[in-house]
Amino acid sequence: MIYSGKSAVVLGLGHSGEAAATLLSEEGARVTVLESNDTPSIRDKARALTDKGIGVILGSAAEMDATDYDVCILSPGIDPIVPLVQNVIRKDIPIIGELELAYEECLCPVVAITGTNGKTTTTELTTAMLQGAGVRTIASGNIGLPFATAVRQSSSYDVMVLEVSSFQLETIRNFRPQVAAWLNLSPNHLDRYPGMEEYRAAKLRIFENQTADDYAVVNAVNDLPPLEARLLTFSATVDADFTLREGIIHFRGEAILDQSQTRLPGVHNAENLMAALAMGYALGVDFERMAQAVREYTAPPHRCEFVRDRRGVRWLNDSKATNLDSVEKAILSQNQPIVLIAGGKDKGFEFDPIAPLIHQRVRKAILIGEMKERIAKSWHPVPCELAGTLQEAVALAAQEAREGEVVLFSPGTSSFDMFRNYGERGNVFKDAVNTLDS
Ligand code: ADP
Repeated sequence: MIYSGKSAVVLGLGHSGEAAATLLSEEGARVTVLESNDTPSIRDKARALTDKGIGVILGSAAEMDATDYDVCILSPGIDPIVPLVQNVIRKDIPIIGELELAYEECLCPVVAITGTNGKTTTTELTTAMLQGAGVRTIASGNIGLPFATAVRQSSSYDVMVLEVSSFQLETIRNFRPQVAAWLNLSPNHLDRYPGMEEYRAAKLRIFENQTADDYAVVNAVNDLPPLEARLLTFSATVDADFTLREGIIHFRGEAILDQSQTRLPGVHNAENLMAALAMGYALGVDFERMAQAVREYTAPPHRCEFVRDRRGVRWLNDSKATNLDSVEKAILSQNQPIVLIAGGKDKGFEFDPIAPLIHQRVRKAILIGEMKERIAKSWHPVPCELAGTLQEAVALAAQEAREGEVVLFSPGTSSFDMFRNYGERGNVFKDAVNTLDS
């Protein structure tokens, strides 16, 4: 282990910080965790680590820590401009992310998936397809199970499937996936990046260390710079290696999967399926075996999730839609008129770009959160009503929706102004819908 006997500092006591600290400590490094927050729940977590011999410093003392370390592991949720990180930068300590740390320890090849939308769905899908075809693998990364935890069992896997975010890619050094997938790119996280160029550049780092022995699976509509790796393209709209024709996914002209035999509707899911099939192909897995495995797969909750049919109205929970591209895809995957519930926190973009689609497909919008007035302005003249809470929005939608319509909750932004995260927001929505009288 590279860090055995070395001193390491881990910034941030979230999921990935905790996993990185544990991995380093088990491998014989002297580990200190620095965390700016100092709440009762953080203190509980800190105690669990100190019991394992890991040092933890919380609150303002963490930001002023004067110790020198051999290496710093930065958690992806922490913006490098905050004092905690600036203090480490001033001391010239080499900084890597948890992704890089775990990669250095990984004993099997890695498949990595990035994109603005569809990462979790495609990561799960790829894992299910590979497992169905007999490949020993597990999904980890930006998906609940940190890579630094999963990697401890990497000798028992044939390959690791990783969901990777732009934030994680910012701090790589040698990270080199054998197969790297680029799903799509649209405006997101503009509250953290100065602009789209910086966001795109962070994501492009997924290909940075690949060679001609590796594969890059890319959406053919994204204009990417020339890549070293062998290219496999996919697209539901333009010509590519993997295409969608009349609901059937084709590979270089040969039909390989009928999308209607899966539980993944919509053009966006066709692209997720194509990307997953392409990754399997790159690993030498048979299409037929992957196609069989995917038929049973259901998307995770909060992604266009069916909640209930009430008086002929279908209710869908798409709480994970935290940018405009995902709202667009959710709308495009419906055939009936839509009553849309949207809105939330200001993430640094306006809702104007999807106004023409809203005009075409949404009969009425019910808006919530910090941005509701601005969204109503952007979407004028589509009828918009403002609600104070999500429960109130559900009650208004229940009065509004007519038989044969869909009520789609696809907020288009994050929820931190009203909820802890998209999961809590989606659960509040589902509870409100399920308690409507029948
Ligand atoms: P991520 O992990 O990138 O956030 P998810 O699979 O969790 O992606 O899906 C997030 C949101 O994006 C959901 O609203 C989902 O319906 C939508 N979505 C899924 N796949 C795509 C895609 N390929 N293009 C656009 N939107 C998508």
